[in-house]
Amino acid sequence: MLTADGSKLGLIDTHAHLDSTDYNEDRSMVIARTFSDGIGVITVGVDLESSGAALKLAQRHRFIWAGVGVHPHEAKTFNNEVSAALRKLTTDPKVVAIGEIGLDYYRDLSPRSTQRDVFIKQIELANELDLPVIIHNRESTKDMLAILRKHRPKRGVIHSFLGDIDLAQEFMDLKLYLGIGGPLTFKKNDILRDAVRQIPLDRILLETDSPYLTPVPYRGKRNEPAYVRYVAEEIAHLKELSIDKVAAVTTENARQLFDI
Ligand SMILES: [Zn+2]
Repeated sequence: MLTADGSKLGLIDTHAHLDSTDYNEDRSMVIARTFSDGIGVITVGVDLESSGAALKLAQRHRFIWAGVGVHPHEAKTFNNEVSAALRKLTTDPKVVAIGEIGLDYYRDLSPRSTQRDVFIKQIELANELDLPVIIHNRESTKDMLAILRKHRPKRGVIHSFLGDIDLAQEFMDLKLYLGIGGPLTFKKNDILRDAVRQIPLDRILLETDSPYLTPVPYRGKRNEPAYVRYVAEEIAHLKELSIDKVAAVTTENARQLFDI
């Protein structure tokens, strides 16, 4: 796969929010840096409006694809009309996933029962449309596993995985990929680093969650997809592999999962 300027598409940032207002001043520059570094992006919606915005970005740029869905924070906005509108967005071939969807019991911005209900409905939508799911899970692992075991997504990724190897194995047993991002470079996350040493590379996707979760050495600043390289470098270091190997395998994983 070649980028617009002829360089190789080396890495795929499988989770960014390029429609975020944090990029309103310089979005085209951020995207230009991403492409000149040979990086493709899955940009992910969090509600109906941002899903539409994500798709517009994907339609405008060859190496951007979109996820559409309602985030657990916004679960209270989900209804039959929203579901129908999301379904309509998925008729565009640049929509490659249903996400971001899931559970967040840390911030509890929608009632938990609503979060569970809306998550299940969107898994069912994804399965019906034969699309992968992009899953958010924060302080909700017990209910997350129960829902995933009962309402099996056909394909998907646990975005920003932060657990230990035992939890990683639970998700891998459900045939899910693990999205690894900036927190891998944070000093306190030895348990995650230990897990990543043991997770087979063919189950790992790279991500940034831009504009959030900025990796070292830019921690504290705004994140952007070009920084996915720092995640790839840390994985290469932990697994004692070349960066080229990490890039090749994780990019192939992303291409397989999202059919891009
Ligand atoms: Zn996200």
